[in-house]
Amino acid sequence: MLAMVLNKSRGALEPEQRAVPAPGPHQVLLKVRACAVCRTDLHVVDGELPGVRHPVVPGHEIVGEVVSCGAGVDIATGTRLGVPWLGSTCGTCDYCRSGRENLCDSARFTGCHLDGGYADYTLADARYCLRLPDELDDVHAAPLLCAGLIGYRALTMTGDARRLGLYGFGAAAHIVAQVARFQGRDCCAFVRPGDTAAADFARELGCTWVGGSDELPPVLLDAAIIFAPAGELVPRALAAVRKGGTVVCGGIHMSDIPSFPYALLWGERVVRSVANLTRRDGEEFLALAPQVPIRTHVKTFPLDAANEALQQLREGRLSGAAVLLPRE
Ligand SMILES: [Zn+2]
Ligand SMILES: [Zn+2]
Repeated sequence: MLAMVLNKSRGALEPEQRAVPAPGPHQVLLKVRACAVCRTDLHVVDGELPGVRHPVVPGHEIVGEVVSCGAGVDIATGTRLGVPWLGSTCGTCDYCRSGRENLCDSARFTGCHLDGGYADYTLADARYCLRLPDELDDVHAAPLLCAGLIGYRALTMTGDARRLGLYGFGAAAHIVAQVARFQGRDCCAFVRPGDTAAADFARELGCTWVGGSDELPPVLLDAAIIFAPAGELVPRALAAVRKGGTVVCGGIHMSDIPSFPYALLWGERVVRSVANLTRRDGEEFLALAPQVPIRTHVKTFPLDAANEALQQLREGRLSGAAVLLPRE
Protein backbone atom coordinates (compact mmCIF):
# COMPACT_ATOMS: atom_id res chain seq x y z
CA MET A 1 0.00 0.00 0.00
CA LEU A 2 1.02 3.61 -0.49
CA ALA A 3 1.49 5.81 2.59
CA MET A 4 2.55 9.46 2.63
CA VAL A 5 4.99 9.61 5.54
CA LEU A 6 6.36 12.48 7.61
CA ASN A 7 9.84 11.30 8.61
CA LYS A 8 10.95 14.49 10.31
CA SER A 9 9.46 17.73 11.43
CA ARG A 10 9.39 20.51 8.80
CA GLY A 11 9.97 17.97 6.03
CA ALA A 12 7.89 17.14 3.00
CA LEU A 13 5.79 13.97 3.11
CA GLU A 14 7.54 11.08 1.40
CA PRO A 15 5.69 8.35 -0.52
CA GLU A 16 6.44 4.91 0.90
CA GLN A 17 5.32 1.41 -0.04
CA ARG A 18 4.30 -0.51 3.08
CA ALA A 19 2.73 -3.85 3.89
CA VAL A 20 -0.98 -3.58 4.74
CA PRO A 21 -1.08 -3.82 8.56
CA ALA A 22 -3.13 -6.36 10.51
CA PRO A 23 -5.64 -5.13 13.11
CA GLY A 24 -4.80 -5.75 16.78
CA PRO A 25 -7.31 -6.06 19.65
CA HIS A 26 -10.13 -3.46 19.41
CA GLN A 27 -8.88 -2.35 16.00
CA VAL A 28 -10.36 -2.35 12.52
CA LEU A 29 -8.42 -2.33 9.28
CA LEU A 30 -9.96 0.24 6.96
CA LYS A 31 -9.54 0.79 3.25
CA VAL A 32 -9.34 4.57 3.04
CA ARG A 33 -11.94 6.00 0.68
CA ALA A 34 -11.19 9.68 1.37
CA CYS A 35 -9.18 11.72 3.86
CA ALA A 36 -9.64 15.44 4.28
CA VAL A 37 -6.73 17.77 4.95
CA CYS A 38 -6.95 19.76 8.19
CA ARG A 39 -4.95 22.81 9.24
CA THR A 40 -3.70 20.69 12.14
CA ASP A 41 -1.93 18.50 9.56
CA LEU A 42 0.00 21.61 8.55
CA HIS A 43 0.95 22.24 12.18
CA VAL A 44 2.10 18.57 12.43
CA VAL A 45 4.17 18.83 9.25
CA ASP A 46 5.56 22.26 10.13
CA GLY A 47 6.70 21.15 13.60
CA GLU A 48 4.34 23.46 15.50
CA LEU A 49 2.85 20.80 17.80
CA PRO A 50 4.66 19.04 20.65
CA GLY A 51 4.77 15.24 20.84
CA VAL A 52 4.33 14.35 17.17
CA ARG A 53 5.69 10.85 16.52
CA HIS A 54 8.17 10.40 13.67
CA PRO A 55 7.73 8.73 11.30
CA VAL A 56 3.99 9.31 11.17
CA VAL A 57 1.30 9.17 8.51
CA PRO A 58 -0.82 12.34 8.93
CA GLY A 59 -4.56 12.60 8.35
CA HIS A 60 -7.43 12.52 10.84
CA GLU A 61 -10.55 13.11 8.77
CA ILE A 62 -10.77 9.59 7.39
CA VAL A 63 -13.67 7.91 5.66
CA GLY A 64 -12.89 4.22 5.41
CA GLU A 65 -14.45 0.89 4.72
CA VAL A 66 -13.98 -2.03 7.12
CA VAL A 67 -11.78 -4.73 5.61
CA SER A 68 -11.12 -6.82 8.71
CA CYS A 69 -11.54 -6.71 12.49
CA GLY A 70 -9.16 -7.46 15.35
CA ALA A 71 -10.03 -9.39 18.50
CA GLY A 72 -13.06 -8.05 20.32
CA VAL A 73 -14.51 -6.21 17.30
CA ASP A 74 -17.51 -7.40 15.34
CA ILE A 75 -18.31 -4.97 12.53
CA ALA A 76 -19.46 -6.16 9.11
CA THR A 77 -16.93 -6.00 6.29
CA GLY A 78 -17.75 -3.08 4.01
CA THR A 79 -19.22 -0.92 6.81
CA ARG A 80 -18.32 2.74 6.33
CA LEU A 81 -16.70 4.42 9.34
CA GLY A 82 -15.24 7.83 10.10
CA VAL A 83 -11.96 8.17 11.99
CA PRO A 84 -11.50 11.49 13.80
CA TRP A 85 -8.58 13.17 15.62
CA LEU A 86 -9.35 11.48 18.98
CA GLY A 87 -7.73 8.07 18.51
CA SER A 88 -7.87 6.76 22.07
CA THR A 89 -8.07 7.85 25.71
CA CYS A 90 -7.23 6.22 29.05
CA GLY A 91 -10.88 5.93 30.11
CA THR A 92 -10.01 6.14 33.80
CA CYS A 93 -8.77 9.68 34.59
CA ASP A 94 -10.96 12.47 36.01
CA TYR A 95 -11.42 13.98 32.58
CA CYS A 96 -12.44 10.71 30.97
CA ARG A 97 -14.87 9.91 33.76
CA SER A 98 -16.52 13.34 33.68
CA GLY A 99 -17.42 13.51 29.99
CA ARG A 100 -14.30 15.46 29.06
CA GLU A 101 -12.26 12.78 27.34
CA ASN A 102 -11.10 15.50 24.93
CA LEU A 103 -8.84 16.71 27.78
CA CYS A 104 -7.40 13.29 28.72
CA ASP A 105 -3.63 13.60 29.35
CA SER A 106 -3.08 10.15 27.87
CA ALA A 107 -5.16 10.73 24.73
CA ARG A 108 -3.55 9.65 21.50
CA PHE A 109 -4.40 11.49 18.33
CA THR A 110 -4.81 10.16 14.83
CA GLY A 111 -2.17 11.31 12.36
CA CYS A 112 -0.04 12.64 15.22
CA HIS A 113 0.69 9.78 17.65
CA LEU A 114 -1.02 7.13 15.51
CA ASP A 115 -0.72 6.63 11.77
CA GLY A 116 -3.59 8.34 9.98
CA GLY A 117 -5.37 8.46 6.67
CA TYR A 118 -2.83 9.75 4.15
CA ALA A 119 -2.55 6.13 2.99
CA ASP A 120 -4.41 3.40 1.11
CA TYR A 121 -5.21 1.58 4.38
CA THR A 122 -5.23 2.54 8.05
CA LEU A 123 -5.84 0.96 11.44
CA ALA A 124 -8.19 2.54 13.96
CA ASP A 125 -9.56 1.69 17.39
CA ALA A 126 -13.15 0.75 16.60
CA ARG A 127 -14.36 2.24 19.90
CA TYR A 128 -13.38 5.72 18.66
CA CYS A 129 -14.71 5.42 15.10
CA LEU A 130 -17.91 7.20 14.12
CA ARG A 131 -20.83 6.06 11.98
CA LEU A 132 -21.40 8.40 9.04
CA PRO A 133 -24.76 9.59 7.69
CA ASP A 134 -25.73 7.84 4.43
CA GLU A 135 -26.77 11.15 2.90
CA LEU A 136 -23.17 12.24 2.40
CA ASP A 137 -20.76 10.61 -0.01
CA ASP A 138 -17.20 9.81 1.06
CA VAL A 139 -15.56 12.96 -0.29
CA HIS A 140 -18.15 15.33 1.18
CA ALA A 141 -18.33 13.49 4.52
CA ALA A 142 -14.56 13.57 5.18
CA PRO A 143 -14.32 17.28 6.16
CA LEU A 144 -17.05 16.78 8.77
CA LEU A 145 -14.66 14.65 10.82
CA CYS A 146 -12.56 17.54 12.09
CA ALA A 147 -13.43 20.85 10.42
CA GLY A 148 -17.07 20.03 11.09
CA LEU A 149 -16.66 18.42 14.50
CA ILE A 150 -14.33 20.98 16.04
CA GLY A 151 -16.33 23.76 14.41
CA TYR A 152 -19.46 22.33 16.02
CA ARG A 153 -17.82 22.07 19.44
CA ALA A 154 -16.65 25.69 19.10
CA LEU A 155 -20.15 26.74 18.09
CA THR A 156 -21.69 25.10 21.15
CA MET A 157 -19.22 27.11 23.29
CA THR A 158 -20.91 30.31 22.08
CA GLY A 159 -24.13 29.30 23.90
CA ASP A 160 -27.20 30.98 22.46
CA ALA A 161 -25.29 33.81 20.76
CA ARG A 162 -27.51 35.09 17.97
CA ARG A 163 -25.04 37.34 16.22
CA LEU A 164 -21.90 35.36 15.53
CA GLY A 165 -18.55 36.37 14.04
CA LEU A 166 -16.28 33.88 12.23
CA TYR A 167 -12.61 34.82 11.85
CA GLY A 168 -10.91 32.91 9.03
CA PHE A 169 -13.28 31.47 6.45
CA GLY A 170 -11.82 28.07 5.61
CA ALA A 171 -12.95 24.47 6.00
CA ALA A 172 -14.32 24.81 9.56
CA ALA A 173 -16.06 28.17 9.13
CA HIS A 174 -17.81 27.14 5.92
CA ILE A 175 -19.44 24.27 7.83
CA VAL A 176 -20.17 26.27 11.00
CA ALA A 177 -21.85 29.01 8.95
CA GLN A 178 -24.32 26.44 7.62
CA VAL A 179 -25.10 25.02 11.07
CA ALA A 180 -25.39 28.50 12.59
CA ARG A 181 -27.86 29.62 9.93
CA PHE A 182 -29.87 26.42 10.44
CA GLN A 183 -30.05 27.30 14.14
CA GLY A 184 -31.37 30.77 13.29
CA ARG A 185 -28.16 32.65 14.05
CA ASP A 186 -26.80 35.54 12.04
CA CYS A 187 -23.19 35.13 10.83
CA CYS A 188 -20.58 37.77 10.09
CA ALA A 189 -17.37 36.65 8.38
CA PHE A 190 -13.95 38.23 8.87
CA VAL A 191 -11.43 37.39 6.17
CA ARG A 192 -7.84 38.35 5.45
CA PRO A 193 -8.00 41.94 4.15
CA GLY A 194 -8.12 41.81 0.35
CA ASP A 195 -9.05 38.10 0.14
CA THR A 196 -12.00 38.60 -2.20
CA ALA A 197 -12.34 34.86 -2.93
CA ALA A 198 -12.90 34.09 0.78
CA ALA A 199 -15.28 37.06 1.06
CA ASP A 200 -17.36 35.85 -1.90
CA PHE A 201 -17.40 32.32 -0.48
CA ALA A 202 -18.67 33.62 2.89
CA ARG A 203 -21.45 35.62 1.21
CA GLU A 204 -22.41 32.59 -0.86
CA LEU A 205 -22.87 30.65 2.40
CA GLY A 206 -25.25 33.23 3.79
CA CYS A 207 -23.05 35.46 5.96
CA THR A 208 -24.96 38.73 6.27
CA TRP A 209 -21.86 40.89 6.70
CA VAL A 210 -18.39 40.19 5.36
CA GLY A 211 -15.37 42.33 6.09
CA GLY A 212 -11.66 42.33 6.74
CA SER A 213 -10.33 40.93 10.02
CA ASP A 214 -9.13 44.48 10.77
CA GLU A 215 -12.67 45.89 10.53
CA LEU A 216 -15.45 46.17 13.10
CA PRO A 217 -18.93 44.90 12.22
CA PRO A 218 -21.74 47.50 12.03
CA VAL A 219 -23.35 45.99 15.16
CA LEU A 220 -21.35 44.33 17.96
CA LEU A 221 -21.37 40.52 18.04
CA ASP A 222 -22.70 38.21 20.77
CA ALA A 223 -19.78 35.83 20.22
CA ALA A 224 -16.92 35.16 17.84
CA ILE A 225 -15.00 32.04 16.83
CA ILE A 226 -11.42 32.38 15.61
CA PHE A 227 -10.31 29.65 13.21
CA ALA A 228 -7.27 31.44 11.75
CA PRO A 229 -4.06 30.62 13.68
CA ALA A 230 -3.25 34.29 14.24
CA GLY A 231 -3.01 35.51 17.85
CA GLU A 232 -3.54 39.15 16.87
CA LEU A 233 -7.15 38.25 16.08
CA VAL A 234 -7.94 37.71 19.80
CA PRO A 235 -7.91 41.41 20.79
CA ARG A 236 -9.60 42.28 17.50
CA ALA A 237 -12.40 39.82 18.15
CA LEU A 238 -12.75 41.04 21.75
CA ALA A 239 -13.24 44.56 20.39
CA ALA A 240 -16.01 43.23 18.12
CA VAL A 241 -18.07 41.41 20.81
CA ARG A 242 -20.46 43.12 23.15
CA LYS A 243 -20.42 42.93 26.96
CA GLY A 244 -20.84 39.36 28.21
CA GLY A 245 -19.71 38.04 24.83
CA THR A 246 -17.38 35.08 24.27
CA VAL A 247 -14.40 34.72 21.95
CA VAL A 248 -13.69 31.05 21.19
CA CYS A 249 -10.27 30.07 19.80
CA GLY A 250 -10.95 27.03 17.62
CA GLY A 251 -7.44 26.11 16.49
CA ILE A 252 -4.92 23.76 18.11
CA HIS A 253 -2.09 26.22 17.51
CA MET A 254 -1.97 29.99 17.36
CA SER A 255 0.79 32.57 17.15
CA ASP A 256 1.33 34.55 20.37
CA ILE A 257 -1.52 36.77 21.46
CA PRO A 258 -0.30 40.37 21.73
CA SER A 259 -0.93 42.27 24.98
CA PHE A 260 -4.06 44.36 24.97
CA PRO A 261 -5.83 46.84 27.25
CA TYR A 262 -7.95 45.29 30.00
CA ALA A 263 -10.86 47.39 28.74
CA LEU A 264 -11.24 44.92 25.85
CA LEU A 265 -11.89 42.06 28.29
CA TRP A 266 -13.84 44.15 30.81
CA GLY A 267 -17.62 43.82 30.80
CA GLU A 268 -17.53 40.08 31.48
CA ARG A 269 -16.18 39.20 28.09
CA VAL A 270 -14.66 35.72 27.94
CA VAL A 271 -11.78 34.27 25.92
CA ARG A 272 -11.59 30.49 25.76
CA SER A 273 -10.15 27.69 23.65
CA VAL A 274 -11.66 24.51 22.30
CA ALA A 275 -9.53 21.39 22.55
CA ASN A 276 -10.04 18.22 20.52
CA LEU A 277 -13.41 16.46 20.61
CA THR A 278 -15.36 13.86 22.52
CA ARG A 279 -17.09 10.90 20.91
CA ARG A 280 -20.33 12.46 22.06
CA ASP A 281 -19.59 15.59 20.00
CA GLY A 282 -19.11 13.30 17.02
CA GLU A 283 -22.41 11.48 17.50
CA GLU A 284 -24.37 14.73 18.04
CA PHE A 285 -22.84 16.53 15.12
CA LEU A 286 -23.13 13.66 12.64
CA ALA A 287 -26.81 13.29 13.57
CA LEU A 288 -27.31 17.02 12.96
CA ALA A 289 -25.41 17.19 9.64
CA PRO A 290 -28.10 15.66 7.40
CA GLN A 291 -30.82 17.77 9.03
CA VAL A 292 -29.14 21.07 8.06
CA PRO A 293 -28.22 19.60 5.51
CA ILE A 294 -24.52 20.45 5.47
CA ARG A 295 -23.00 20.71 2.01
CA THR A 296 -19.22 20.73 2.14
CA HIS A 297 -17.19 22.41 -0.58
CA VAL A 298 -14.20 20.28 -1.47
CA LYS A 299 -11.24 20.17 -3.80
CA THR A 300 -9.90 16.67 -4.37
CA PHE A 301 -6.27 15.65 -4.85
CA PRO A 302 -4.79 12.21 -5.49
CA LEU A 303 -3.16 10.77 -2.36
CA ASP A 304 0.34 11.15 -3.80
CA ALA A 305 -0.30 14.91 -4.24
CA ALA A 306 -0.68 15.41 -0.45
CA ASN A 307 2.23 17.88 -0.35
CA GLU A 308 0.54 20.03 -3.00
CA ALA A 309 -2.75 20.00 -1.06
CA LEU A 310 -0.91 21.08 2.12
CA GLN A 311 0.87 23.84 0.21
CA GLN A 312 -2.41 25.23 -1.19
CA LEU A 313 -3.83 25.24 2.35
CA ARG A 314 -0.70 26.96 3.68
CA GLU A 315 -1.04 29.67 1.04
CA GLY A 316 -4.76 30.17 1.66
CA ARG A 317 -5.64 29.13 -1.89
CA LEU A 318 -8.47 26.73 -1.01
CA SER A 319 -12.19 27.44 -0.76
CA GLY A 320 -13.59 24.89 1.65
CA ALA A 321 -11.62 21.68 2.29
CA ALA A 322 -8.98 19.67 0.45
CA VAL A 323 -9.66 15.93 0.30
CA LEU A 324 -7.15 13.23 -0.64
CA LEU A 325 -8.28 10.24 -2.66
CA PRO A 326 -6.31 6.97 -2.73
CA ARG A 327 -6.20 4.95 -5.95
CA GLU A 328 -9.16 2.63 -6.45
ZN1 LIG B 1 -8.21 9.88 30.45
ZN1 LIG C 1 -8.23 18.58 12.40
